Amino acid sequence: MNPTKRLLAVVSKPRLYDSSHVSWEILESLDRGPGGANAFVTPIGILRVAIKDNICTKDFPTTCSSSMLQRFNPPYDATVVSLLKRAGASIVGKTNCDEFGMGSANKFSHHGPVINPHPFQDASKEAWRLREQRSAGGSSGGSAAAVAMDLCDVALGTDTGGSIRLPAAYCGVMGYKPSYGLISRWGVVAFADSLDCVGILARDTRRISQTLDILAVHDPKDPTCLTDDLRAKLPREESTAQPLQGIRIGIPQEYFPVELDSSITSRFRNTVRLLAKSGAEILFVSLPSTPYALSAYYVISSAEASSNLARFDGVQFGEYTKPEKSFRGIIGDLYALNRSKHFGPEVKRRILLGTYALTAAAFDNYYLRAQQLRKLVRDDFDRVFTNLNMLRENKSTTSPVSSPTVDFLLHPSAIQSAPPLHETNEEDSLNSYVQDILTVPASLAGLPAISLPVGNGQDGWPLGVSLVGQWGTDRRLLEVAGAIE
Ligand code: GLN
Repeated sequence: MNPTKRLLAVVSKPRLYDSSHVSWEILESLDRGPGGANAFVTPIGILRVAIKDNICTKDFPTTCSSSMLQRFNPPYDATVVSLLKRAGASIVGKTNCDEFGMGSANKFSHHGPVINPHPFQDASKEAWRLREQRSAGGSSGGSAAAVAMDLCDVALGTDTGGSIRLPAAYCGVMGYKPSYGLISRWGVVAFADSLDCVGILARDTRRISQTLDILAVHDPKDPTCLTDDLRAKLPREESTAQPLQGIRIGIPQEYFPVELDSSITSRFRNTVRLLAKSGAEILFVSLPSTPYALSAYYVISSAEASSNLARFDGVQFGEYTKPEKSFRGIIGDLYALNRSKHFGPEVKRRILLGTYALTAAAFDNYYLRAQQLRKLVRDDFDRVFTNLNMLRENKSTTSPVSSPTVDFLLHPSAIQSAPPLHETNEEDSLNSYVQDILTVPASLAGLPAISLPVGNGQDGWPLGVSLVGQWGTDRRLLEVAGAIE
């Protein structure tokens, strides 16, 4: 069989990317083993792309890793998928994720957890089998694992509060979340519309930029997608031989919480030294509203999720469970039956939290308050960036404190390396929410951010640092990230 066909035949089983189910037998049937040569033979120039399972594809089921959508076969492709196909990319399969994108460890999945494939590249077959089982991060854990295992050149993920950057850091790959609105979300199953972004994971920034060229176009089907007029005003990439020379990088002091693991701090320092040596100016800045970002994020995202997921009632959309013969309930009871059976525990928690935040009694104290905090977080960013925010007319004047301005911010991507899977307790939501503490502020402000691998920590597992830019500076961000690579 033609190798490309064989590749497609194997990966069209979406379960391949639950890396818990990736077996050596499958990998060897693809002529691929750790440290082995890349035997994925695709015609030169064809980009092999894996797609997160909450992005609709007409050639593969789209389950959102949920029992609720276990039999959903969309009759259409999401715009991002159509654009990739039109550009000649080969869609090699769908990747496992947390159910509807909700989670940080890729443990909340109907398909089972994604096991972090590290140290896939250098390990012997035996060593790889015996390795400690750690989380690949979530919610785009399957996408990060697929890239780390070289099962694809590029994987699409979604990032609502860190779901691309966190798994990228845990798996030792690059994960880029664009400015909100740069890439179409049409055909992407919504989690929290005001935060959701489709982003790109790969092993280098060249591949990310190449994919961004294909995806960063206006889509009339997505009202939040940037118009051509606005795109024309975005800062252009000025390629320079030394992109780091003279650049001002800010280190936000609030991004070193007590939960931060010490080996991250030392890796982070190395990156800062490297940047300084290459001519970057390093400045310490303050984003004082950062401590409120996590709570604001969980209230807003859950409120939006409770509304978005209301459509999955098993009658209009989603899995239907035939009630017992003795069932005498009304339609609402039927919905409850379907939703209780087919949503997992984390999705149910978010729906309950979000519905509560939107009730008349709680709205002012939770939802409105969270929106006010979101504004403070945005104002912080606008105050420290040299570039003005194109979406907002004036520079924020909320704080009288004047501090130095910077081109980009740099901070650790996560508070720790990938946690062992047995330590990620499903019931301990608060602990897992803390994993997002460093990624949610950029999401609340809709800013572009990229997590870059910076080697392994003392425990031998990958660590990442994140670069964040002002809204719309994506090209420059990728160029600077490429120079740090
Ligand atoms: N971990 C965060 C959450 O559970 C972020 C998820 C995401 O970005 N999709 O909400």
